[in-house]
This record gives sequence, C-alpha cells and structure tokens, in this order.
Amino acid sequence: MTLLPQNPLLAEWTAAFGLPPFGAIEPEQFRPAFDAALAAHRAEIDAIAVDPAPPSFDNTIAALERGGCALDRVANVFFVLAGADTDDAIEAVEREISPLLARHNNAIHLNRALYARIADLYARRDRLGLSLEQARVLDRYHTRFVRAGGALEKPAQDRLAAINERLASLGTQFGQNVLADEKAYALILEEGDLAGLPDFARAAARAAAEDRGHRGKYAITLARSSCESFLQFSARRDLREKVFQAWIKRGENGGATDNRALIGEMVALRAERARLLGFPTFADYRLNDQMAKTPANARKLLDEVWGRARAKAQVERDALQTMIAEEGGNFALEAWDWRYYAEKLRKARYDLDEAEIKPYLQLDKMVEAAFETARRLFGLTFTPVDVPLYHPDARAFEVKDANGRHVGLFIGDHFARSSKHSGAWMTSLRDQEKLTGAVTPIILNICNFSKPAAGEPALLSFDDARTLFHEFGHALHGLLSNVTYPLLAGTAVPSDFVELPSQLYEHWLEVPEILQTYARHAKTGAPMPKALLDRLLATRTYGQGFATVEYTACALVDLDLHGLRDTAALDFSEFERRDLERIHMPAEIVMRHRLPHFQHLFSGGGYAAGYYSYMWSEVLDADAFEAFEETGNAFDPATAKRLRDVIYSAGNLRDPAEAYTAFRGRLPSVDALLKKRGLVDAAA
Ligand SMILES: [Zn+2]
Repeated sequence: MTLLPQNPLLAEWTAAFGLPPFGAIEPEQFRPAFDAALAAHRAEIDAIAVDPAPPSFDNTIAALERGGCALDRVANVFFVLAGADTDDAIEAVEREISPLLARHNNAIHLNRALYARIADLYARRDRLGLSLEQARVLDRYHTRFVRAGGALEKPAQDRLAAINERLASLGTQFGQNVLADEKAYALILEEGDLAGLPDFARAAARAAAEDRGHRGKYAITLARSSCESFLQFSARRDLREKVFQAWIKRGENGGATDNRALIGEMVALRAERARLLGFPTFADYRLNDQMAKTPANARKLLDEVWGRARAKAQVERDALQTMIAEEGGNFALEAWDWRYYAEKLRKARYDLDEAEIKPYLQLDKMVEAAFETARRLFGLTFTPVDVPLYHPDARAFEVKDANGRHVGLFIGDHFARSSKHSGAWMTSLRDQEKLTGAVTPIILNICNFSKPAAGEPALLSFDDARTLFHEFGHALHGLLSNVTYPLLAGTAVPSDFVELPSQLYEHWLEVPEILQTYARHAKTGAPMPKALLDRLLATRTYGQGFATVEYTACALVDLDLHGLRDTAALDFSEFERRDLERIHMPAEIVMRHRLPHFQHLFSGGGYAAGYYSYMWSEVLDADAFEAFEETGNAFDPATAKRLRDVIYSAGNLRDPAEAYTAFRGRLPSVDALLKKRGLVDAAA
C-alpha cells in the first residue's frame, strides 16, 4: 500500500479557531479536494434518497442539513481565495469547477426520489410535530426544490440542468473578464500630470505605480477608490476623460475579454429557465421568492424615487454648469466632469473638501469605530489575534460577547491589490450552526481601499468609511447568527432583505459621538474639529440627486432586461442605450455599473433582477434607524436588543416582512428614505 501525501484541504484542520492551513494550500490541491468532497456529498445524498425508512424530518431534512461538510469547507476556502487573492492557477480551477458545482447542485435538486420525500413531508407538515425553526427549514427546502425544478418532468429537468451548468461557466468567465480588463489598465503619470490631486491621492497613485513596476511614477487604476478620487480631484480634463472612458468600457473592449456576447446568452438562458418553471419572465421568477414578491412592487418603489432623483440631479447639474461658466469655462458639463465640479461646489458651498476630511479618517480608527458600535449595540468585543491567513494584509480578530464567550472570528482584508476582484463584500470560511455541535462563524470583509506607501497611514474617504460600516453590518449578520440549521444561518435571507443589516449599520458612522471619538487626524491625533464635523454632516444630502440617479438607473435597466420575454437577437449595448433613453437618463450621468461589467447581475447572478434590493432594503433601514432616533438614543438598549433578536441573529428564521414587523410593529413606508436622501422636495 502506498501512502499518498495527505491533501491539506481534506485533512483535519488543527490551526487556531479551525482556520484552514493557508500556508500548506497549493492551487493544484483544489481539484482533487473538490472531487473527493463532491463524491462524499453525493454518497450522502444518495443514502438519504434511497433510505428504505419512510421519510421523517430527521432522516431527510436534518440529514440533508448535516451533509456536505467537506464540500462546504473546500468551497469556502476556494471562493475566498478566488475573490480576494487569485492568480492564473486559481482562475483555471474556478473555470473548471463552477460547472461541476452547478452539475452537483442540479443532481441534488433534480433528484426525483429525494424530491418525493421532501414533498411527502411538506404535505404532512402540520402533523409532524415540528418546532417553528424546523417548520421553516422544511418550508425553505420545499420552496428551493420546487424553484429548482424538482417537481418537473424529466425532459424539462434535463434542459434546466444544462442551462444551470452553462450559466455557471458564463458567470465565472464574466467576472474574470472584468478583472482582466481592470488588471490590464493603468494610466501611468508623471509628477507634472497631477494637478489638483491632494497628498493622499498622490501617495495612493505612487503606491499603485510601484505595485505595477513603475517605481517613482504615478498610476491611476480602475479600482473604484483610485479612479473615483482621480475623477474628483484631477484638474486635467483630458486625463479625467481618459480614465472615465476606460472605467465605463470595462468588459466592452472587444477581443477575448468582451462580455457583450456573454450577457446575451445569459439573459436568454435565464428567460428560458423561468419559462420552464412556469413564470413569464426571469424577473417574475426571481422576485417570487423575495420580499418584494413581484417586479411590479419593486418597480413601484423605484418609480416613486426616480422622478424625484432626476429632478434633483437636474438642479445639481445646473449648479455645476454655472460654476464652469463662472470659471470662464466654455464647455458643457460631461460625465467625467461631474465628480470634479461637484467636489469643487461642495467646497465652495460648505467650505468642505474631501482632502480636508480624509486625514481624519484613518482605516484603523474607523475599524475601531465599527467595533465600538458593535460593543455598544450588542456587547461584542474584538481582539486582534495573530493567526496565519492567506495574505499579509488580512487581519484577524476574535469576537466575544458581553460575558466573554467566544462568538466567532472576524477577518478584515481591506486593501486593493491586483489579485483581488473589485468591489467590497462579506463572505465566510465557516457559518454558524448548532446542528452538528456549537459551530461558530468565521466571517470576512473584503474591501478595495487604496493601500498607502510604506510608513504612511491608510486613509479613507467618507464613502470608503461608509463601505467599511456597510460590510461590517453584513459581518455582524453572520457573526451574531444564532440558529440551529445551517440553511437559515446569517445572511441566508432574500437579497432585498439582506442589505438591511448592512445599510442600517452605516447610520452609526454618522452618529456624532462615534465620529467625534474615532475621526482623528493621522499626523496630529487631534479629533475632527466640531465645526468640520458639523459641516460634514450638513452635506449628507448633497449630491444625492446624482447618486440616486446613478444607482436607480441600474436597478431599472436590470428589471427591464430580466423582464424581457423575447431575448432573441438582442444587441445589449443597444438595449442599454434605448432603455436609458426610455427612462430619460440625464446625459451627464452614466450608470453606476454598465451592463458589460455589471458583476451583481452576471458574475454569479446573485443580484440578477435583484439590484433594486439595495433601495428596497434602504426603505427598511431608513425606517429602522428612526426607531433609535425616536428614543433619543442611537444606542438605545431595548431597541438594540430587539434588533439583535429578530434581525441580526435571526438569519432566515422568519419571513422578512414578519421579521421586520416584529422589530418595528409595522411595515415601513418610503418616507424615511426620501427624507434621508433629501428627495422630499426636488430642491438641491
Ligand atoms: Zn451589501
């Protein structure tokens, strides 16, 4: 017998907190580990499906919940790396493995014997003596199988399986194409090209150039924090245009990384899948299992906001054009001018500029601020721990509750690098559950903040700080999770509800006592002067016309695209253009994510026909924060306890509308959102 060297992905993980042995993991170990884990899970599923004993909750639903442990472990560590620290070898595995995973999930959801057991239990659900949580798990399994096609006839199931596999491959390719376009681009600048750029932007550009092998020069990249701050500050109109054009052309540059054909195929496949499952369009299919329930409900909210947002953006545009004229400029405002003049006008109007604020927003202090907020709301503490992770920039913190009990592990991986996909997200290496013992979560926040040069402090924009709090809100949803069944844990809720914990958390960044304590000047350590803080908070609704238009246009185009009944021979650049025309998109504003790089919709598809979710959740978060404001205390203990009990720790235990009503006593109206965004009347 030969002894094969043990694959560390499949061995017992003995590192602190049960972390994966990152130092021993090599990309070539993933494929065999996936193969072994998939085979093990398949055997578990088959055993459940052919069990001669009549179906019971325990031998079917609980058994499904107990299964797939090895696969979860391997997949979690793989997808953390594929998102946050990828390379050619990982990307190759990703392309191979995504259709295999889709095939695996198909085999489970389209397993007729298994579906028969679930359907039998579901029919008898009231007589099974289930707890509320067990009843919810059974209900979710039944819904999930039906929505995946478990109840369909064989030919339709085969077609669904083929569609899902193909969609998985296309989604992977889409994300990799965007990353390739981002990696391929850097605008390399000389000292003389930096007019208008404040120190922090110069430092970030210098570090980015060095990262790309241009020591002593400056690089503007397509990471949002790099190009957005360039667009905001650079006085060079010609260079702003260059960067802006590169940014909005990601995924639309022709050649191997062009995403347009992929979009066409994906939209057509999704529409076909919806039809097979009995829905007229993909949007109908998708929203049926969301809090919104129908595209019409989602659209009603967007329409309510859209007209007001456009009117406000119009007023903002006129003010910017006036400023250009006053400066003697003889040109019409273009998309690449908007951020630059908006920043200038903000400075003129409120005596406030980003460069003045930024030295007070140190990354580490803002992380502390997010921790302190969690301590005051939920009694959590965060202690740095020195454990081996996958990249030196990632940092781990042990999370404990008010009684000193271990809650989980939080990993913050905050800096942009070329091996990381763009954007910011929360993910996990392990999710909370109590079915197989007390399993505590390991939750990550991945961000793309500019990394400073060695010895310099990492500084955030106010938007970055908001992103930090947002992702940390998601992290708390994972960390505070307190359910028995893995299916219901943490963020496993509908996507129009999942942004409630994250967006709600952003409100505490703006609570004066948090900013006063944690916004400290990087050089002097002095707190942000009261006057500056007041001016900063006074600008809260400044520019909301632009921001709301930029976002809402994306949500509308998404619903329109996925509401198509006939997708044959559609040109998607043309579709985007015509649809924007239809909704009267202001000419000087470009969608926050154009279709060729709209990863929410096409890189995996988690938000396909679901981009409206952010605004749907915002209706909830604006109203939910008012619950604290009404008490006069942003940390009111009774409100915080209720929030924790029915939202942050409750995962998917309840229907979202029920959960929200349990917190607030009623469902929200759109009023709090309009007030928050300054859209109650259309004056700027
Ligand atoms: Zn989010």
